[in-house]
Amino acid sequence: TLIYLNGEKVDYENAKIHVEDRGFLFGDGLYEVIRVYDGKFFYLGKHMERLKKGAEQIYLELDFGPDTLLETIKKAVKESGFKDASVYVQVTRGTAPRQHAFPSNVKCTWLIIVREAKPQPQEFYENGVEAITVPDERWTRCNIKTVQLLANCIAKEKAKRAGAYEAIFHRGDIITEASSSNVFIVKDGTIFTHPANNLILHGITRFAVLELIKNNNFELREEPFSKEKLFAADEVFLTGTMTEVMPIVKVDGKIIGDGVPGKITMKLIEDFRKLTETVDC
Ligand code: PLP
Repeated sequence: TLIYLNGEKVDYENAKIHVEDRGFLFGDGLYEVIRVYDGKFFYLGKHMERLKKGAEQIYLELDFGPDTLLETIKKAVKESGFKDASVYVQVTRGTAPRQHAFPSNVKCTWLIIVREAKPQPQEFYENGVEAITVPDERWTRCNIKTVQLLANCIAKEKAKRAGAYEAIFHRGDIITEASSSNVFIVKDGTIFTHPANNLILHGITRFAVLELIKNNNFELREEPFSKEKLFAADEVFLTGTMTEVMPIVKVDGKIIGDGVPGKITMKLIEDFRKLTETVDC
């Protein structure tokens, strides 16, 4: 594990943040998780874009400079020596006496953690995994990747306790996304996923998979779909930086389709693998 805090390399024991850091007190910050495959960044530029957009939306000035962040990420990954890595990036509004309104004259806290990436068990991709559904109890600005993840953590814990891999959120009757991934379904050859609005995180993997779907000329509808439609789907899969493209074969104990990863899912898993071998931007 390699850590950079505010642009300085620090060892694990000394990687400390102030008790009045607004990330700690208010969850007042943003994060990104970026994947490196065999030394190549998987859409680092897109992660940086999303971070900048999020910063604008929460009135956070990236005072250290986005270019400095980008260069430090690259340097950190190189220094780590990890060919396959996950890069955790967090930026908070910084440390100031506790008050809700934004402080002035405060400097961002920015953090980079590089870890060796451990791929998920191959049998997950071959056999598929299970999910449960949970009410989406988050706020309505889910497109902003804030560190305020308690609702997501509770959902994931519920999945864990149910012996499932992931928790799929429904807002009323509509499936939005999952606790740390986006959700796709396939019905009669058509792929459905929730539109990229304020109710979901606009996943970088989601973006990559939409490109693969277009390249395959698969029928795609970015529109809301119901819980009922999820259960009646022929195929269900998740997308996420660490999740990649993951087939779901059971939801709330009910078998999806034939109970095995479907054809379209398998093709997208294969295409995604190839993409990770080529993308470096
Ligand atoms: N949705 C949520 C709520 C997430 O937390 C994540 C990733 O952490 C995703 C979707 C997938 O986004 P990405 O593909 O950028 O990792």
